[in-house]
Amino acid sequence: MGTDHTDQHGLRVNTDPTKTVLSESYLHTKSLCDHVINVATGCRHGCEFCYVPTTPAIGNRHKMLADQADVDDPQGDWGSYLLYRDDLPERLARILEDRDSSDRKQTDRGRGVVMLSSGTDCYQDRRTAQITRGAVTELITHDIPVRILTRSPAVVRDIDLFQAAGDRLTVGSSIPSFEAPLVNAIEPNAPPPIKRWEALDRLQQAGVPVFASMSPTYPTMDEDDFHELLSYFRALGEIVVFHEPINPRGKNFQQCLEVASDAGYEDVAKELRRMRDDRQYWVEYALEQLNTVQQVATRFDGLQVHSWPDDELIRSTSGQLRSQLEAMQQAVSPESFGPTKPDTSAAQSELAEDHKTFQQLI
Ligand code: SF4
Repeated sequence: MGTDHTDQHGLRVNTDPTKTVLSESYLHTKSLCDHVINVATGCRHGCEFCYVPTTPAIGNRHKMLADQADVDDPQGDWGSYLLYRDDLPERLARILEDRDSSDRKQTDRGRGVVMLSSGTDCYQDRRTAQITRGAVTELITHDIPVRILTRSPAVVRDIDLFQAAGDRLTVGSSIPSFEAPLVNAIEPNAPPPIKRWEALDRLQQAGVPVFASMSPTYPTMDEDDFHELLSYFRALGEIVVFHEPINPRGKNFQQCLEVASDAGYEDVAKELRRMRDDRQYWVEYALEQLNTVQQVATRFDGLQVHSWPDDELIRSTSGQLRSQLEAMQQAVSPESFGPTKPDTSAAQSELAEDHKTFQQLI
């Protein structure tokens, strides 16, 4: 069949013949959701660290991608193709009507939440936004809690819909840093971080619950950088912030390293190289960043940071430190999705008062 057409940005676009609508997700381990809905295959933002092209959702679909969009190398070409799932809202409506809600996965940390989208950006253009609006309408009609994660300021077009959902829906954006040229190098086609923040500001002012994801944060970021970031988030009022340091794995990590260097951020590239080559160095960096962010968060009354310590990081530690990291990982995010707010303050806390103690604790 081949590509339907190439849009004005050079993106190969077509429709996605998949019948997948609602997929169970492992993202309950990050207290994000139990299910995901991906409104498209591919993503025009083409973030260098994106793990999606390394997953079976892309890896097992070489033939479909070749047939529909002339894609030879789904991972290498990531960011240059986009296949829309236009009839997804209708199919979702049928599923929600036909299936008993008690059959749906609901974990303590995922709370039955459906997230749009984990494998693409659900507001990246008008067509994905249209599909997203249809899907969210179906979910809130069935009183299903919803999380929307997007880098696109266009999300504000659906404020009316989000207001109708009340506290059963939250909208968030990934903002790892306000260093626009660096973010632009690593997330080449995504809107600038300040535009994402402005969208969250508009949503919050309209009474929509919001969250921010500082993921992944860059290795050169220090206490002052985190103070600045968290000040911006605190200015949004009631907000939950998720945080994850960068993990040196896979081809996409190497790509981040190369684009940082090409963009003139040799200091970032040097740190990433060191982490790639020295696992202990990465462990100490990740612990220090998790700790610094939790410490800085205590300066902002009422600001809660939900940290995501990586499995490999936890396995690299022992004793009390390991127990603390495991408690962080097991915690439920402090969002309500209804009348009751979980108590998570004890699990998310500083790991040590003094960074130097990590070397003894590991
Ligand atoms: S916006 Fe998300 S899905 Fe799209 S490329 Fe970036 S990380 Fe991947």
